[in-house]
Amino acid sequence: MSKALSPLDVALEQLNIVAEKMDLDPNIHEVLKHPKRSLIVSVPIRRDNGEVNVFMGCRVQHNDARGPFKGGIRYHPNVTVDEVTALAMWMTWKCAVVDIPYGGAKGGVACNPKELSKKEIEGITRRFTTMLLEIIGPYRDVPAPDVYTDGQTMAWIMGTYSQYKGYRVPEVVTGKPIDVGGSEGRVEATALGVVFCIREATKQLKMPLKGASVAIQGFGNVGWNAANILHNLGCKIVAVSDSQGGIYDPHGIIPSKVYEYKEKSGSVVNFKGAQSITNNELLEIPCDILVPAALENQILKNNADRIKAKIVAEAANGPTTPEADKVLFEKKVFLIPDILANSGGVASSYFEWVQNLTREHWVTKETNKKLEVKMVKAFRDVYAISKKERVDMRNAALMLGVGRVAEAIRILGLWP
Ligand code: GLU
Repeated sequence: MSKALSPLDVALEQLNIVAEKMDLDPNIHEVLKHPKRSLIVSVPIRRDNGEVNVFMGCRVQHNDARGPFKGGIRYHPNVTVDEVTALAMWMTWKCAVVDIPYGGAKGGVACNPKELSKKEIEGITRRFTTMLLEIIGPYRDVPAPDVYTDGQTMAWIMGTYSQYKGYRVPEVVTGKPIDVGGSEGRVEATALGVVFCIREATKQLKMPLKGASVAIQGFGNVGWNAANILHNLGCKIVAVSDSQGGIYDPHGIIPSKVYEYKEKSGSVVNFKGAQSITNNELLEIPCDILVPAALENQILKNNADRIKAKIVAEAANGPTTPEADKVLFEKKVFLIPDILANSGGVASSYFEWVQNLTREHWVTKETNKKLEVKMVKAFRDVYAISKKERVDMRNAALMLGVGRVAEAIRILGLWP
């Protein structure tokens, strides 16, 4: 069996494919293959039992030709520098696709938050922040939540950074709770952006959104909110899952009931009345819309041909490999790639940053309207390229994103 591709292999392969399709200047291609800066640190914390543990942490800043570095920080046992580098590269393209003035970065700490107390997670976060002090900042690099980090984590980052500066700096991080400078709608924004893209895709396919059946892999912030919003729009959510496994009910589940159940039991697994399925089975469930909202490397060469959905909306980053992309394209599955589908999160982060810098606070109606305008424009731009160049939506989005970044690099020139 051939070795599975790492997320960085996937990201570099995507860049190669698109560089060839768009005849990218080989010098700029060379620059884009490498992150501008990677910082690897060892994060020591004292556990509740008195022991000291050390965790690997890193922040990878891929490119800042279009603006300050931007991207989330994830806490997950499988975090590696290579994975974070791929995610940083995707952030660069994503910010360009949704046309916000940022470059791309990502951070991570290789730890398992499920085995740590809140106090221990706070310890990791504050210590990690002090180790990033030199390279983050409102005009340098602005972190945000990602897998297993949330508003509370961001508040600790902001608090720690502000203590060092001597004054409150809300604009150093986005995804904060509303009371400490967060933006209305940020928590739901990634999911809402995914839904705007799905809505646009159904229009192109002349397929009604109401009544469409949906399977969602992952029940974290994005998966759960996408399930809830789509359910409220009249879709039938037939399957959901989390890291423990999944549930399937062809008649449809009520996401808020599953959410309540997961709050109590810790997982969606064994939800009453639904059939138990694995995460892999979920991908192959008969449905109209499939939303991978968990981790990388889910739709691969060997399962892509068994996918039955008409639309695949990548709420997660990097769930599909380039080989699987080809299979889906041949099967005429409408793929909404990650750097478009989930760009509502970072677009909303941008709104938060602008509000913080101007000391303003916008109402939910305003943030959601702005998000809709950004998402619809990005979707239509990508769709137009896919038609004009006769490529799938992944390559169209990459052509748009990589093209914009390449143009900024070209104009700025290389110095010294
Ligand atoms: N972690 C999110 C992403 O992958 C959000 C990043 C941000 O808001 O900076 O897009």
